[in-house]
Order: sequence, then C-alpha cells, then structure tokens
Amino acid sequence: MKPKVYITRKIPSSIVEKIENTCDVEMWQEENIPVPKEVIENKIQEIDGLFCLLTESIDENLLERANNLKVISNMAVGYNNIDIEAAKRKGITVTNTPGILTDTTADLTFALLMATARRLVESSDYLQKGEWDTWSPMQLTGQDIHGATLGIIGMGRIGEAVAKRALGFDMKVIYHNRSRKSDIEENLHITFVEMDELLKSSDFLCILTPYTKETHHLISKDELSIMKNTAVLINTARGGIVDEQALYQALVNKDIWAAGLDVFEEEPIPVTHPLLSLQNVVSLPHIGSASVKTRLKMCEVAAENLTRGLNNEKPKHVVI
Ligand code: NAP
Repeated sequence: MKPKVYITRKIPSSIVEKIENTCDVEMWQEENIPVPKEVIENKIQEIDGLFCLLTESIDENLLERANNLKVISNMAVGYNNIDIEAAKRKGITVTNTPGILTDTTADLTFALLMATARRLVESSDYLQKGEWDTWSPMQLTGQDIHGATLGIIGMGRIGEAVAKRALGFDMKVIYHNRSRKSDIEENLHITFVEMDELLKSSDFLCILTPYTKETHHLISKDELSIMKNTAVLINTARGGIVDEQALYQALVNKDIWAAGLDVFEEEPIPVTHPLLSLQNVVSLPHIGSASVKTRLKMCEVAAENLTRGLNNEKPKHVVI
C-alpha cells in the first residue's frame, strides 16, 4: 500500500503527479484560502506524510492526533510554525527548503531597503494622487544607500547574500550573529560587532535570523532607542523578531527614520494595524521568496523531501 499524503494548499499539478508516483495524495483544492484547522485535525489522524506551508500551525495538540505520521515537509526555510520538540518526541522527521530561496529573498530584502530609503511607494502615491505640482529642493528626499553602513543581524545564507549585494553599493557592512563567521569576514571584508555597536552604528539594519524563543522581540524599545534617528529597519525574517508596538512608537517619535517590513507578528496583518497608517513604513505581504522560479523550486524540493522520507531514503533537508 502506498503511503498517504495530505497537501495543505493547491500546488502545481506537475508536482502533485510526482508525489503520486509513490504516494496516495489528497490535497486542499484552494490556492488562496488556507485549509481550516479542523480539516488538518481530521486528516492528520490517518496520513503518513504532510506537505504544509508556513501558514499552518503544526502544534503539539495537532501532532498528538497523528497516529502514522512520519514526515512533515514544510515548504519554507523557516519552520517556526512547527512544534519541533513535539515532532521529535513522536519520531516525526521535519524537512524544510533551505538554500534555493536565498538569492531571491536577498534580492527582495535589498529591494525593500532601497524602496524604504528612497520613499518609492510614497513618491509613486504622491504622483498618482496628483500632488506633484513642481520640483523642489527637499521634496521627497530620502536616505543615501551608497556609502552607508549596513548592519545585518543573522549572518546565515540570506545574510551573506544581502552583504554581497551591499558591497556593490559601496556600503560598509557590519554584522552580529550568535557565532562568528570568519570565512565570510575574510571573503567579503565585513566586520563582526557586538549587538549594541551594531544598533549604534547602522544606517540600515537588516534582520535575518530565524524566529525562535531567543529571537522573540530581539528588536524592542531598548534596541530601537539605541539606533540612529536616521536609521532604517528592514525585517524580511519573521514578524515576531520585532516588537511591533515598540516599533510603531519609535517611528512615530522619530527615534528611527523608517521601516521596511515583509513580515508581521500576525499574518495577514489587519489593514487597520497602526503600523500601516505610517508614511515611513513600506509594507509587503511576505513575498521574500516570491519569484516564479523559486516558488516552483520550493514546491519541488518540498515534494522530494516528502517522498524520500516516506520511501526510506534520507530527505536532503532535514530539520530533525
Ligand atoms: P540560516 O542560514 O539558518 O541563517 C540564520 C542565521 O541566524 C545563522 O547564521 C544563525 O547563527 C543566526 N542566528 C540564529 N539565532 C540567532 C540569535 N539568537 N542571535 C543572532 N544570530 C542568530 O537561515 P537563512 O536561510 O539565512 O534564513 C533566515 C530566516 O529568514 C529564516 O529562518 C526565515 O524565517 C526567514 N526567511 C524569510 C523569507 C521571506 O519570505 N520573507 C524567506 C526566506 C527566509 P548560526 O550560524 O550560529 O547558526
């Protein structure tokens, strides 16, 4: 008998067909509506493999219901949506899709940095609304990117790829990470600094750590108060790393100059959220890895991780 698999969102049929070569597949048929929790609660009792997205919270209560589950394949590099300890206790393999989305996410991080620094969205709205009456010396002036200091928190795959891009803009790159990366320091001529120094010296601060207990609200009131009042904060990692209430206050009080956010504590962020009312915030709907090529590749890799795990081969990207 083939292993049973549930896919929590409609994915391209070519990839479903590949999974079907070795598995019995059932799939939530909607592309833009998340699967209700009750459906997963029901399905998880009988399946051997789960293909899920970061929109699904795979918590301990849900995992308690799993009788045969062997593999959870998350179509993302971050896996903070899965209770890893609970999965481990049940002997379930968890896989993710690292590496393939690194450059696409670094591109978006840099695009967001530039859009925020040079007020692209605000300027475009200004023109569209018919407010462009004349050219004037200080109209819609932003922050220079070239020559500025970029601080990166989390010098992993995406952090390094963002640093490479920054060097092309003649930026000075400093970083903080829980472990030193001497090879990257040497290759890219970037400098490790302690967190306080990073906050104090950065003109742009990019957050690129995973979201864990240790990184929850890593950037909060105290950290924001140390930053320059001309600084721009960019978060393309996970929303919970930044205390959004503290960020809102810092932006309103002009303690920092602007923020570019691709991720939020609650996703989708309610449109009534105070952060979205600020002109010095550029906000995006979690599109870091959203290029056609990369999303297809992520689907493929997640499918391969799943089928390998269910067919007694070691998946290529195992979290636990
Ligand atoms: P990665 O290669 O694992 O890099 C993460 C880095 O963060 C590592 O260097 C790690 O240090 C460091 N780190 C972990 N905890 C830390 C802490 N408490 N303080 C300081 N540094 C810490 O991961 P990646 O592939 O670059 O991805 C990073 C994150 O980006 C993912 O976890 C995901 O949440 C997010 N992401 C978002 C999008 C999007 O669509 N917006 C797309 C892709 C990824 P060590 O080297 O010591 O382990």
